[in-house]
Amino acid sequence: MTFAIHGLAVARGIAIGRAVLVGSSRVDVAHYFIEAHQVAEEIDRVRMGRNAVVDELQRLQHAMPKDAPPELTALLDVHLMLLEDETLTSGVKHWITDRLYNAEWALTTQLDILARQFDEMEDEYLRERKADLEQVVERILRYMKGVVSPVAQPLPARRKAGQHLWPDESLTVPLVLIAHDLSPADMLQFKQSVFAGFVTDVGGKTSHTAIVARSLDIPAVVGARSASQLVRQDDWVIIDGDSGVVIVDPSAIILAEYGFKQRQGELERERLMRLRHTPAVTLDGQRIELLANIEMPEDAVGAVNAGAVGVGLFRSEFLFMGRKGSLPNEEEQYQAYRRAVEGMQGMPVTIRTVDIGADKPLDKGQKEDTHLNPALGLRAIRWSLADPAMFLTQLRAILRAAAHGQVNLLVPMLAHGSEIRQTLSLLDFARAELDNRGAVYGPVKLGAMIEIPAAALTLKLFLKYFDFLSVGTNDLIQYTLAIDRADESVAHLYDPLHPAVLRLLADTIRECQAQGKGVSVCGEMAGDVAMTRLLLGLGLRSFSMHPAQILAVKQEVLRADTSRLTPWAQHVLEAEEPALAMADPLSARTEAEPVWDSGLGPLSTY
Ligand code: PEP
Ligand code: MG
Repeated sequence: MTFAIHGLAVARGIAIGRAVLVGSSRVDVAHYFIEAHQVAEEIDRVRMGRNAVVDELQRLQHAMPKDAPPELTALLDVHLMLLEDETLTSGVKHWITDRLYNAEWALTTQLDILARQFDEMEDEYLRERKADLEQVVERILRYMKGVVSPVAQPLPARRKAGQHLWPDESLTVPLVLIAHDLSPADMLQFKQSVFAGFVTDVGGKTSHTAIVARSLDIPAVVGARSASQLVRQDDWVIIDGDSGVVIVDPSAIILAEYGFKQRQGELERERLMRLRHTPAVTLDGQRIELLANIEMPEDAVGAVNAGAVGVGLFRSEFLFMGRKGSLPNEEEQYQAYRRAVEGMQGMPVTIRTVDIGADKPLDKGQKEDTHLNPALGLRAIRWSLADPAMFLTQLRAILRAAAHGQVNLLVPMLAHGSEIRQTLSLLDFARAELDNRGAVYGPVKLGAMIEIPAAALTLKLFLKYFDFLSVGTNDLIQYTLAIDRADESVAHLYDPLHPAVLRLLADTIRECQAQGKGVSVCGEMAGDVAMTRLLLGLGLRSFSMHPAQILAVKQEVLRADTSRLTPWAQHVLEAEEPALAMADPLSARTEAEPVWDSGLGPLSTY
């Protein structure tokens, strides 16, 4: 039966595919795709695990004393019966053979399906057998742990450049991922994998999971509450990343409608591609800098392809994640930064020092055991200053990469003068260390992120020490409004147009301009086409966003006239309800204004 689930739209477009539920089973196992020729081996691993459990239970049965309680004997019988059950074995075989899931993933997938069937049983006795099934499967998994998979590797390592997007060419069904939660480290693992879209129960629009989804440029919905409970393995699912709706088990008519929308979206993207080489200049001749946000050095390719004129934010923390606590050494980091710099072919690259903490733990699971209020805790520059040796390693690596091209060094989450001074003296120290070693390094421009209201309210201090500022609106909104950016239950209050947020943003832009310092916005607001005109009107000339958003924002820029937008933006800034003011007739776009259209518009005008 068709039904819809509503969540938050975070990455645009439509995905249609079969649901893959990960981590829904209470047993946490590895998920990866195997190659077609490894199917028999994986089936064998399950068979061996199952046989070992049967042996164990039979041994227990034989050793059972004559006067043992009958319930115990009956329990062993039930477990043995479940192990013999054809639906368990045939289901597992299906997931391995037809979907190329690894053995553990196949087993827990089938467990989820059978557990659901048990839940739906009327007979209470039978319903309770679900717990037996779970125990049996856990036992098999425990045995399988001893039978190490010859093919176990995380997803990214399995896909080499140029390799087919699907785990195997024979597998052509689009898959969409449904999970309760995905950490940014999980998301990185999925970065080069097969999913056409994803849905999570939790998360806000600017949570880091959502940000990585945007960088993957696949449709995604977060904060869909109970999606991972309501969707079943292998259900057909439509993810509408534009409106935040997930449609489960769609009828043929709905499928056809969304198939049409999907094709329209693809056509629009193709049309936008024509703007790739068009300079981002407004109707009144203002040149706008459109930069890319990247997570890994390899993302530089996408940035160049999308027409970015540099990287405005390289979130270096993604190099530190999912490594089970071991941090990348100087050489490893230097090589990564150098690859990004070279990938940008002479264009500037802004490397942000590591921003670990809050919703970006080093490793998954770490989130649970950190501090009570991680967003207000040891995060970003605070984390770096707490471990000077680690920070110096990163600073040296960035300075060395600066010998290969234009590098800007950006520091996140600063609030105090003492933090600024400590950071600068560590930077001097890093230079001195490199001098002592006779290592080659280059000059860097120094920037600070404005993410905490305290920073936005003490701009003079920041401008005394830094060459440029970059406004991290994701955090600036979070800390100004006291709204956890990753918490879907308060997502409706996470408002980029709150007058206080706009005031801090406008003041930062104005103050930088007054002092002739560079300023950009690198939060999600910069890539939101609904905000482009307002930001232009507030005087912003440098925007940094996911490569996938650049062309749509460029289209807005090409349509804009900043001489009209400036008074309009002041009107919005002073309004009690800026969102309403943005929609009123004072809006800078008028009938007479020529509107550039990516499909039909006169490209030659520019
Ligand atoms: C921001 O806070 O706006 C920002 C760009 O940094 P991050 O999203 O990585 O916290
Ligand atoms: Mg931030």
